[in-house]
Amino acid sequence: MNEPVIEISELTRRFGAATALSAINLALPRGAVYGLVGANGAGKTTLIKHILGLLRAESGSVRVFGLDPVADPVGVLSRIGYLSEENDLPGWMRVDELIRYSRAFYPAWDDAYAEELREMFALDSAAKIKSLSKGQKARAGLLVALAHRPELLVLDEPSSGLDPIVRRDILGAILRTIAGEGRTVLFSSHLLDEVELVADHVTMLRKGEIVLSAPLGSMKESHRVNGRAPTLDEIFVIHVGGAASQAAEP
Ligand code: ATP
Repeated sequence: MNEPVIEISELTRRFGAATALSAINLALPRGAVYGLVGANGAGKTTLIKHILGLLRAESGSVRVFGLDPVADPVGVLSRIGYLSEENDLPGWMRVDELIRYSRAFYPAWDDAYAEELREMFALDSAAKIKSLSKGQKARAGLLVALAHRPELLVLDEPSSGLDPIVRRDILGAILRTIAGEGRTVLFSSHLLDEVELVADHVTMLRKGEIVLSAPLGSMKESHRVNGRAPTLDEIFVIHVGGAASQAAEP
């Protein structure tokens, strides 16, 4: 009954001689928060780009809401909220213009919720996007991603540039609320302590392959040593061989 929101089968992607994704199989049922973790270059962004239809599957298949995101971009993207690492918002717009502009793309845009988020994120309506700090830009991007109450929220490294309060409290609360409403969240992160706080299910990528994918609780249970459940960071070191947060350092 609970059809997967995202269903990926045998997805392989090469860039020249390099294999970015190798025979990925993934089915994400609705209503949960999925953390996608892996060191730099593990393939997280490449996987997300396939889900958004920005890359076409070379071999294997990708279905989102049962649709092919490349063949039916409108049907898929209008139901997805997306925030990327780059977060390339138009710098010349003011915050209120960005909100008006964005709402035109989404039939389900919720004005009251957009205003609630703007206040929660302390964004000045009259401020120019280019004058915002990195953290404020990330909040504006999150507002746009959330205000149409998407069925699927995809966040690629949402925490870069966000201060610890936004990261832990606001982001965590939002992700939980959304999943509680039966919506689905997929987010990639290097910050394993953050993933551990909010994810129901964790998928670990290593050099384009899934090395572990399981509900967080059962993952921790199955890695118990001497009765102690390890942290996600410790599990990551076992399977990937180095802390993701350290691997993210420039
Ligand atoms: P990061 O945490 O650094 O963002 P990631 O896990 O998101 O890394 P990807 O960006 O998906 O990793 O990259 C996976 C691999 O594919 C890397 O080896 C990367 O260099 C390569 N790659 C990604 N996009 C391209 C591209 N457009 N052209 C060539 N190689 C690419």
